[in-house]
Amino acid sequence: METAGLKYDFRSDTVTRPSAGMRAAMASAEVGDDVFGDDPTVKRLEARVADIIGKEAGLFVPSGTQSNLIGLMTHCERGDEYIVGQQAHCYRWEAGGAAVLGSIQPQPLENAADGTIALADIEAAIKPDDPHFARTRLLALENTIGGKILPTDYVQAATALARKHGLACHLDGARAFNAAVALGVPLAQLAQPFDTVSVCLSKGLGAPVGSVLVGSQATIARARRWRKMLGGGMRQAGILAAAGLYALEHNVDRLAEDHANARTLAEGLAKLPGLTVTAPDTNIVFVNVEASIAPAFAAHLAQHGIGVVSAYGATRQRWVTHLDVDAKAVDDALSIASQFLQR
Ligand SMILES: *Cc1c(COP(=O)(O)O)cnc(C)c1O
Repeated sequence: METAGLKYDFRSDTVTRPSAGMRAAMASAEVGDDVFGDDPTVKRLEARVADIIGKEAGLFVPSGTQSNLIGLMTHCERGDEYIVGQQAHCYRWEAGGAAVLGSIQPQPLENAADGTIALADIEAAIKPDDPHFARTRLLALENTIGGKILPTDYVQAATALARKHGLACHLDGARAFNAAVALGVPLAQLAQPFDTVSVCLSKGLGAPVGSVLVGSQATIARARRWRKMLGGGMRQAGILAAAGLYALEHNVDRLAEDHANARTLAEGLAKLPGLTVTAPDTNIVFVNVEASIAPAFAAHLAQHGIGVVSAYGATRQRWVTHLDVDAKAVDDALSIASQFLQR
């Protein structure tokens, strides 16, 4: 099936469409008014995700952006600040929501190539208790970040440092299931050092809509009020939650296939002249294209129905593997790319 006229859509794992099985689960979902607390399917999803991640409670929300914003707002009040990476989604890619809607000041710090923020930088950015400064309240990390898995000992050290200074810890785990599957560890283990964790159901897991924020009972009770305020209270949302439950049952272990496909794609592209490829940890492959061929190569891919993101300039492409591009699609894409580059 084609999307947006693309035969091979590697732009993002968000382009996945609900399968027949998922649609059947959605159609037969038991529902009620979730703002009244009446939707049994939403409740099941929230409990299931909380259980998988090892937290007390969950909150089903329309998007990862809203989930992160609610997470930040549960930890930070007006005039507080959160420490976050320059490349982090919840700083850079969410339209400044924390500042605009939360009155929360971001304190962005450089991400190293592996996605980490230097511990010394974090420590130096934590403000003393002084009326000149915003109150530093939270460390927000992201895993995976740009498809890279944060080193487990780094996460331990960074969160321990945050706690030593009385900061809470939030994980933007939009693709945390990818990290858990790639490492072969339970997601609860990766999530353990964090007070709140946000996961997306609508990326590699293949659901059409939805994220879940998890944390303690008390935190999620506060989060529920912010969700209502932000317009995220949904009514018969069990239709959507059913897709999430289906995704958790059928689409988690298979993320390993996406990772294998990404490796095949990376190895194949790396053999071609003019391309430099970063070996992927999970399902995202970054490719640097020599400037002299970049526009023509991008045009060749587009002509043959291959979609990639080159939002970082035509010389830097992002290829993402997912449910709707199988091993055959990867082989086809590699032949098409090599036709151009081996001429
Ligand atoms: C996609 C993404 C989000 C936001 O999810 P949306 O549902 O698109 O709002 C947050 N964080 C990361 C790391 C993401 O990749």
